[in-house]
Amino acid sequence: MFEIVSFILGPVQTNAYLVADPATKEAAVVDPAWDGHIILAEAQKRGWRIAHLWYTHAHFDHIGGAGAIADALNPLPLVALHPNDHVLWRAGGGGALFGFNIDPGPEPAIDFYQGQILRLGSVEFEVRFTPGHTLGHCIFYVASANVCFCGDLIFAGTVGRTDLPGGDWDQLVESIKTQVFTLPDETRLLPGHGPETTVGEEKRNNPFAGGM
Ligand SMILES: [Zn+2]
Ligand SMILES: [Zn+2]
Repeated sequence: MFEIVSFILGPVQTNAYLVADPATKEAAVVDPAWDGHIILAEAQKRGWRIAHLWYTHAHFDHIGGAGAIADALNPLPLVALHPNDHVLWRAGGGGALFGFNIDPGPEPAIDFYQGQILRLGSVEFEVRFTPGHTLGHCIFYVASANVCFCGDLIFAGTVGRTDLPGGDWDQLVESIKTQVFTLPDETRLLPGHGPETTVGEEKRNNPFAGGM
């Protein structure tokens, strides 16, 4: 069993995803974007315990709600992030560039790596390392639920920006080609911004993915 609750939060309309195995009530937040109290209230309403905060990458708009969530929980949720984004995390997710000073929440405790399996109750998430938008960007694929949390790698009809520190266009294209377009066409893509899409839809219609 697997449930996903999505939120649109913060100054740049970031998607946060509260995910759980309702049988065990164990929950995680994929990108606790902003206003952590809203995510927390939803988990509490459902009787879910947030044990993990999983970051696709360390940009401020994806981690800005972590502090408020952690402050309300004991034990603290375990924060997981790819080590290549630790420098960005320590720099407040680059928020200063945009005039935002966030509470970054607990230190990352778990390092993501390519092929790592994360477990939430009976649900398995496969970590795929997808640099290009940031140095340490990762996506999380749940084969049993036919869904992939893809952060700021690819969106409906477009792709993540590569003009911020750590961005690299060639890497981004390679990450999409090798880590997203190798998933089944019917896989739902739940991105960091904007509406959900599917792998097949983006293979056909994403102008940035043409010729990949
Ligand atoms: Zn980003
Ligand atoms: Zn973003």
